[in-house]
Amino acid sequence: MAKIMVVEDEQALALLLKYNLEKDGHEVLIVEKGNRVVAEVERWCPQLILLDWMLPELSGVEILKIIRTKPDIKNIPVIMLTAKGQEEDKIKGLNAGADDYVTKPFSVPELMARVKTNLRRAPEVMTIREICFEDIRMDLVAKKVFRGENYVHLGPTEFRLLKLLMETPGKVFSREYLLKTVWGDNIYVESRTVDVHIRRLRKALNAFGADYIRTVRANGYAIDCQPILE
Ligand code: CA
Repeated sequence: MAKIMVVEDEQALALLLKYNLEKDGHEVLIVEKGNRVVAEVERWCPQLILLDWMLPELSGVEILKIIRTKPDIKNIPVIMLTAKGQEEDKIKGLNAGADDYVTKPFSVPELMARVKTNLRRAPEVMTIREICFEDIRMDLVAKKVFRGENYVHLGPTEFRLLKLLMETPGKVFSREYLLKTVWGDNIYVESRTVDVHIRRLRKALNAFGADYIRTVRANGYAIDCQPILE
């Protein structure tokens, strides 16, 4: 019995899948919008993802590529669901990191069989329990941050921002990218909001040590130990 995420914007199909998966004893979460998927995967930690190719906002292949770059979720098996039957699309999907590929329309028993196979074949999903950078330690299970021995109190947005920065130290993330991945589809958020939350994050972290968050003028933010050049 597993946690299975169904990413599908056709509601009738999503509900049909949910019904059948639940009948097999699985726990199911439906996500309809492409740009919510990565955040929901990180939050809910499914053991398998059924991912539709054609989605509003962000396509299944784009989502898959992002998932495969993120250390804590990259090993989750993904079955792509698609109306595209072309061989080249299948290859594109598999190249992007899909574990399996099912063409619509499919029979429900066949898909359930694939689910079973992929769950069994799935390697023990390697869950990363913590990420560290210098003296900053993020406990991803307890969702707590420490600097040395000190507990750093962060809000949920600051936590997600810090996690993203710490996953790839030295990499500069643009405000647009941060908005898209940390805030998702909240269209009311302006890029200035990123600066506000970075300021909060800095304040909380720097109470216990040096400032490792680097502001890159007109570009964005990174975490590293380089001297600050502006
Ligand atoms: Ca679709």
